[in-house]
Amino acid sequence: MSITGIKGMNDILPEEIATWQFLEETARKIFATYGCQEIRVPVVEKTELFCRSIGETTDIVEKEMYTFNDKSDHSLTLRPEGTAPVMRSFIQHKLYNLDQVSKLYYMGPMFRYERPQKGRYRQFHQIGAEIIGIDDPRMDAQVLAMLSHYFEAVGLDDVSLQINSLGCPECRPAYRQTLIDFLQERMDQLCPDCQRRCSSNPLRVLDCKSKSCKEATVDAPSVLDHLCPSCDEHFATVQQRLNQLGTSYTINNRMVRGLDYYTKTTFEMVTNNLGAQNAVAAGGRYDGLVEELGGPALPGIGFAMGVERLVLLLQDKKIETPPPALFLATLGEEAELFAFKILNQLQREGIYAEMDFSGKSLKAQLRRADKLNCRYTIMIGENELATGSAQLKHMVDGEQQTIQLDGLLDGLRALLDDSAATSL
Ligand SMILES: [Zn+2]
Ligand SMILES: [Zn+2]
Repeated sequence: MSITGIKGMNDILPEEIATWQFLEETARKIFATYGCQEIRVPVVEKTELFCRSIGETTDIVEKEMYTFNDKSDHSLTLRPEGTAPVMRSFIQHKLYNLDQVSKLYYMGPMFRYERPQKGRYRQFHQIGAEIIGIDDPRMDAQVLAMLSHYFEAVGLDDVSLQINSLGCPECRPAYRQTLIDFLQERMDQLCPDCQRRCSSNPLRVLDCKSKSCKEATVDAPSVLDHLCPSCDEHFATVQQRLNQLGTSYTINNRMVRGLDYYTKTTFEMVTNNLGAQNAVAAGGRYDGLVEELGGPALPGIGFAMGVERLVLLLQDKKIETPPPALFLATLGEEAELFAFKILNQLQREGIYAEMDFSGKSLKAQLRRADKLNCRYTIMIGENELATGSAQLKHMVDGEQQTIQLDGLLDGLRALLDDSAATSL
């Protein structure tokens, strides 16, 4: 019996890789123009890192972590998200000593022990960014502008930005209590999950998907009516700057995010194209997190995008790996020797070319060129070597042209560069 992969952990096969690479490369390009640098952290961390940063009473820590003991009986966890490991690394390597503001981004697999279902996997991928060291609302606007820029650049215009403020340690406790009082009067209408959350994580009740919870909380007090003057002003400036840039958004005062560490600005990129309304990116400000994890009291803001969801949204856009520019079909040993050299020279110049190494007939070689979608095919045999010229066939329109073998490389280079330029 052959061995299969683990349920909920997917292979990303060559046929779909072009979309993945496109999403990753676009992120690298765009994030760099906002001054972000990549950081790579391990996929495994000490379990306590996530308990302390994400919060003991969150769904992730309560139910979804991939936690195990290693052979030395240390409790380790496969990272369920990227922010905590990045913060851990930021603090451990004292990156705050290098620059007043650290702008970091990451991409890679995350792990949650959930029941696998469509769109939810045990290994999934995120691209995220963290900006640490500045609490100015203009930075919030920059981060949101960068996120919008990214979605535009990858061609997802059906996505909308929602923003909210969750207040700060000054104003949130009072709001939390107001909300608990409100919820306690409606306890019997809440789903079992929310009844349990009511005292531990009451804000989560506001984004519960259950119908009865939605109805029970229609008139729930809004966090935005309970912000302290400083949070209020912060949120106003974020909006003012987004308006200035023409970045569209809506305010959603029920967006609470699942993690304990968020403060002030929180946001989601939401789409209707994944069945129910779904977030494809989410994040917020976390001004207490660095200190909570043992670092200096530095503010931060960040987000993460779900790559599997982005790939799903880009399905119809048909992003594909480019086919070979040229197939060298040969007949006879001498022609093969000649072509093998040319093949290598083209490849060294960054031109994707192919030839056959399995002794196929000329006809079978051409069939293969067709199957690979090669842009051009050149046929070289004894005759061609003798006359010093060969036929170059454009595979789409079938047009043929004669090309000199002497200086063939230059001829091909000019032609392929040219056709690459016109096909763009
Ligand atoms: Zn506040
Ligand atoms: Zn509920």
